[in-house]
Amino acid sequence: MDKASATMDVREMERWLREEDESRLEALWRAADDTRQENVGDEVHLRGLVEISSFCIRRCAYCGLRAEHRGLQRYRMSADEILACAREARAYGYGTVVLQSGEDYGITREWLADVVREIKAQTGLAVTLSLGERPDEDLTAWREAGADRYLLRFETSDRELYDRIHPPTDRQGLSDRIAMLKRLKQLGYEAGSGVMVGIPGQTYAGLARDIALFRELDLDMIGVGPFIAHPDTPLGRSELPSAPEGEQAPNTELMTYKVLALTRLACPEANIPSTTALATLNLAQGRELGLLRGANIVMPNLTPVQYRALYEIYPAKACIQESAGDCHACMKARIRKIDRVPGTGLGGRRHRKTSAVH
Ligand code: SAH
Repeated sequence: MDKASATMDVREMERWLREEDESRLEALWRAADDTRQENVGDEVHLRGLVEISSFCIRRCAYCGLRAEHRGLQRYRMSADEILACAREARAYGYGTVVLQSGEDYGITREWLADVVREIKAQTGLAVTLSLGERPDEDLTAWREAGADRYLLRFETSDRELYDRIHPPTDRQGLSDRIAMLKRLKQLGYEAGSGVMVGIPGQTYAGLARDIALFRELDLDMIGVGPFIAHPDTPLGRSELPSAPEGEQAPNTELMTYKVLALTRLACPEANIPSTTALATLNLAQGRELGLLRGANIVMPNLTPVQYRALYEIYPAKACIQESAGDCHACMKARIRKIDRVPGTGLGGRRHRKTSAVH
């Protein structure tokens, strides 16, 4: 592997996704790790994740929070609870707090703008939002309130597959997450996106095109994790078709590392997390291997313990019994064990002409 990998075409990426030879894969891991080291250094930035609400109006075929999962007890955190988590993030030395939820219109524009303003005033941390597809007016108000970044995975660049797994709601027509990502950038957010790996119906070629789209969109942050079947969803019940044999991308740990490594090569400067879904497949080593094969971010969970198990986007999610303190200690130890250093500062994208973090 050489430096030409930064401009690798889709065909070559697909070949790598199909690669099974261990010594060749070692070369891919090494190239991704070198590219990570050269472009974003040895710091691992910690983003404290707060899962602020499990209410959701969507019917995503993959996600346990989908509106039709009626058996699930729902919660929405109070502003005071969220602020307490943000102060905890600050105390632990994290640069960022990430507020994530289902698509919940009980989270109103003004209420959340107040929460963001308060977090900025009390902690000075970077604020990342991951609240699903919201109208421009909401995004504008939250940006004005001080939100710095927004995460919205496009999940797959295959339009037909996307419409199958992400049906429209009555409130909004057919969804266009790629248009929303462009809009987020115009509004001055750092924009993050990503995909699940191994969704039934997703092909090797489709995954290669996903990675090419990361590059084309010039994303600031990219999250990739394995698809994990949830029994209370259409995809978990195998109600949707897989791609033909030989074309279907597997939702394995190995395939996720390949996507992660190719993503780092395609987007050298992006902030790329080693995800919880990856840790769920390999509790002992998933986080570390992600960090050694392209990732430079981890997202310790700050959600209060009484809510964690209820934010069940997929089953057996890693760390649902742990407290924020447990996650903090565990992440720092894992970072040090592989000779990396916990990040300082807010951990925004480097080398940006105009910084979105103020
Ligand atoms: N409502 C927000 C946040 C969703 S949770 C949104 O839609 O953007 C964040 C991510 O978890 C999703 O974007 C999806 O990629 C991932 N996810 C959801 N269900 C999953 C599953 N069953 N397996 C793996 N990842 C899943």
